[in-house]
Amino acid sequence: MPDIGFLNGEFMPLSHVKISIEDRGFQFGDGVYEVVRTYGGVPFQLDAHLERLERSAHAIGLDMPVNSTEWDEWVREGVKRAGYPECKVYVQVTRGVASRDHLFPHNTPPTIVMSVREMRSLDPALCRAGVVVITMEDLRWGRCDIKSINLLPNVLARQRASEAGAFEAILVRDGTVTEGAVSNLMIVNGGHVITPQEGMHILSGVTRRFVLSLARKGGIPVEERNIDLRELRQAEEVFLTGTTIEVLPVVRIDNVPVGSGQPGLLTKRLRALFQEQIAP
Ligand code: PLP
Repeated sequence: MPDIGFLNGEFMPLSHVKISIEDRGFQFGDGVYEVVRTYGGVPFQLDAHLERLERSAHAIGLDMPVNSTEWDEWVREGVKRAGYPECKVYVQVTRGVASRDHLFPHNTPPTIVMSVREMRSLDPALCRAGVVVITMEDLRWGRCDIKSINLLPNVLARQRASEAGAFEAILVRDGTVTEGAVSNLMIVNGGHVITPQEGMHILSGVTRRFVLSLARKGGIPVEERNIDLRELRQAEEVFLTGTTIEVLPVVRIDNVPVGSGQPGLLTKRLRALFQEQIAP
């Protein structure tokens, strides 16, 4: 089964998709994207992802030429064509192809691409055991709420984490923890789940929202507020959330164990609640 590609309304094998070197996504990172995964072959939280795509496009002044209904159909059609048990769908919209100039081009249609690949979940043993993270300075721009394809600081952060033997880099801006390079971050203290509030310095994660609503429904108090580095280091439990990592316990930060050095009870409970929701 080939991985599925999609370019401006047309499905094709992924390897057949050709994009101009003058696409503004390629030359300026002038575009936005989403990553959606399926459970039981059904795209998870698709509406929330498509809403965020629209928000991101609007925030960079990119007129989305298609509405959510069309996107919805394309994503589902892509998943059907791919036929994998579970799929990872990447969608991207850029400001189109134009001769290189920083100014927005006139009358240039956006480039819409999509890829559908097999979704391979993280190793369940890793999810049970928890992961190691490092902290580093958040060098990103001031609009991290926009899911822009400009990911160089995230790429460098994740690479640095990997070279340090860690799964993720936790980003810290002026002493305040923002999020991971590819995930949102939550801590547990005194039975409360605490996570940085939404704003321009974090991506409003679809999984973040979903997990917070599970916590609230389960009677777990939630606080959305600043977390400084000291509070992170002293947290009883720490975990990450994201589309591909779900609820992932963190057991060491900068080589220091979190709490007992094992995934915490509340983290495990939230992970179990999450698994219940996605079970077919
Ligand atoms: N924060 C960043 C910087 C991300 O790149 C991602 C996911 O790609 C997330 C958070 C998690 O967002 P979501 O739960 O919507 O996948």
